[in-house]
Amino acid sequence: MPQTFPSPHKIKAERVAGFGTTVFTVWSQLAREHQAINLGQGFPDFAPPAFVMVGLKNQLDGYQQYSFLAGMPTLREALAEQYQRDWGRAVDPATEVTVTVGATEGIYATIQALIDPGDEVVLMEPFYDSYPASVTMAGGVCRYVPLRPDDEGSWYLDMDEFRSVVSPNTRMLVLNTPNNPTGKCFTREELQAIADVCIENDVLVLADEVYDHLLFDGREHCSIATLDGMWERTITLSSVGKTFSVTGWKIGWAITSPALTDALQMGLQWVRFSVATPLQLASAEAIQASATNGYYDELTASYQGKRDFLVDALKAAGLRPLIPEGTYFVIADTSDWGFENDESFCRHLVTEVGVVAIPPSHFYSPEHRHLAHHLARFAFCKKDEVLEEAASRLRNAR
Ligand code: PMP
Ligand code: GLN
Repeated sequence: MPQTFPSPHKIKAERVAGFGTTVFTVWSQLAREHQAINLGQGFPDFAPPAFVMVGLKNQLDGYQQYSFLAGMPTLREALAEQYQRDWGRAVDPATEVTVTVGATEGIYATIQALIDPGDEVVLMEPFYDSYPASVTMAGGVCRYVPLRPDDEGSWYLDMDEFRSVVSPNTRMLVLNTPNNPTGKCFTREELQAIADVCIENDVLVLADEVYDHLLFDGREHCSIATLDGMWERTITLSSVGKTFSVTGWKIGWAITSPALTDALQMGLQWVRFSVATPLQLASAEAIQASATNGYYDELTASYQGKRDFLVDALKAAGLRPLIPEGTYFVIADTSDWGFENDESFCRHLVTEVGVVAIPPSHFYSPEHRHLAHHLARFAFCKKDEVLEEAASRLRNAR
């Protein structure tokens, strides 16, 4: 008998068999099908700043061959200088910086490099969806702790709840600040309390800081890596996607100690060997230029206006926004619209109102999914006129 391949009984390996299609893919597809305004998937619908595009064009005629595993020296040097300025500590571009294919690869590769089967990884909910997937692919075990909104609508981590999920098997905490989707920016005091638990229990921290230039109302970003005793146990990840409105470039990085850098690079060399050279060089130019051209202030001011606009629009539509402190997302409480859950609310929005939002229950474990039943996530990284049209559709729908 000729064997059929693949066997109808087993096509997918166990490490991927449980995955569905990502919520971002699903809802962007629905936006296209219904010609709805896409406030779901977080990507800017406007052009990147002119100086960033000039930098890219400058590089297109340049060097086109393999980069180094760790990334192009110019980019690593630009990053080392930036972190040195922001953190007030020397960062060695040769041994403490690794360029990755977006922060997404940084997350995957960090977890692959440091998590053994059975190791526990603590994730705060709502989480960015690639965290549990990456832990699962490494054979790790996720332990979940929810962020909760207080009476004023500010999200907080209950430290007793956090401590209760940390055990001798805990190897890593994933900490995302500014936080997608809540918009929470952890304060230095909150980070210190988290750091104390990590040090006491010998836990590593994957610090996902891709929104580190998007904070509102004069807030300043604080990296947990800068707290005493944390540098040695923290891998700080970020990328150019959000900061320079170039989510398609997929240039990211990991900043960490030489020992953790070495572990990360051992795996990475087999995943992609190196990262797109011209895009790294263009990213280096953008980062260097932004040290002096005032771009980060302009970015914050522009997003502050968009946040304020969308928050007011949601209020006017009878939705109750939880004011984000950073990122380009806002979570709203949809209870007053009377839907059974976030999925049915978002379905109604796309089919009847012509606006896409993301149902946040996808960012929770089954155990805590009910916490999201009356929430929806809206992105405001969109042109002002697009936000205005969405606002009018929402207002008229109510
Ligand atoms: N982490 C968070 C919290 C994000 O929102 C995103 C956005 N896509 C990423 C990581 C991935 O970043 P990148 O596009 O650089 O891979
Ligand atoms: N980070 C973006 C968001 O949260 C989308 C990323 C993606 O599509 N994978 O909307």
